Amino acid sequence: MDLWGNEDAWDRQTKQEDTRKKTLTSLMTYEELENCFYECNACHLRTEGGHGPVLSSGSEKSPLMIVGEGPGGVEDEKGLPLVGPSGKLLDKALWSIGITRDRVYVTNIVKCRPRNNRTPTMQEANVCAGRWLIREIQIIKPKVILALGKPALRFFLGRDVGIIRSRGQWISWRNIPIMPTFHPAYLLRLEGKSLVDAKWQVYYDMKAAKECAMKAAPDWNWKSIEPVDLLDTYADRIAMRKEKNKLMCD
Ligand code: SF4
Repeated sequence: MDLWGNEDAWDRQTKQEDTRKKTLTSLMTYEELENCFYECNACHLRTEGGHGPVLSSGSEKSPLMIVGEGPGGVEDEKGLPLVGPSGKLLDKALWSIGITRDRVYVTNIVKCRPRNNRTPTMQEANVCAGRWLIREIQIIKPKVILALGKPALRFFLGRDVGIIRSRGQWISWRNIPIMPTFHPAYLLRLEGKSLVDAKWQVYYDMKAAKECAMKAAPDWNWKSIEPVDLLDTYADRIAMRKEKNKLMCD
């Protein structure tokens, strides 16, 4: 309040922020979260040139949550995480351990596409994940999280560490076991023996994550009969995104 008892800009801003926090923490279901998610413009990533936030894919009941880095070009266009070249590789890796994409919950640390697919900074990751990913985790209640790549690892660890040294070693975040492994985009940049070695490492990391989740959720069905085409499954969401992109360009 100022000297005359009037509400000043600082008071107003503080009240708005308090209301925002209360609104977010009161989100109880995935649908409630989704309803306010797409309007988010809480950080500068929203205006870096992408088409808006990308939330998740897969089952909200899955005991296994996979957390990637952020949307790339294809993901930004379609509005789905990990459906571009990295996503195709992820699908193959999951299939090799008996999982189809519809049976896991997949999301990202940052929801808006960083320009030119640059790696999000720790601060950007903390802002976005602090606002959305933490709510997703509270709602989905995964038994195990598979963290793909360095941004996801350092968010859960709370400090800057290298993924090469840390992959394959369990960490714990709010009592949830986290298995860090390489992001598929990293594998796509490798070749020869390095690629073969890294693929095996990812295979064993994912297998360990699945086995841990299976212990906690022994009745979960991990595999649909056929590999799942997410672009088919989410055709409506993709069409809506396309329409929105078109309106933005007109
Ligand atoms: S990156 Fe996250 S916090 Fe920033 S605008 Fe997008 S959804 Fe909101």
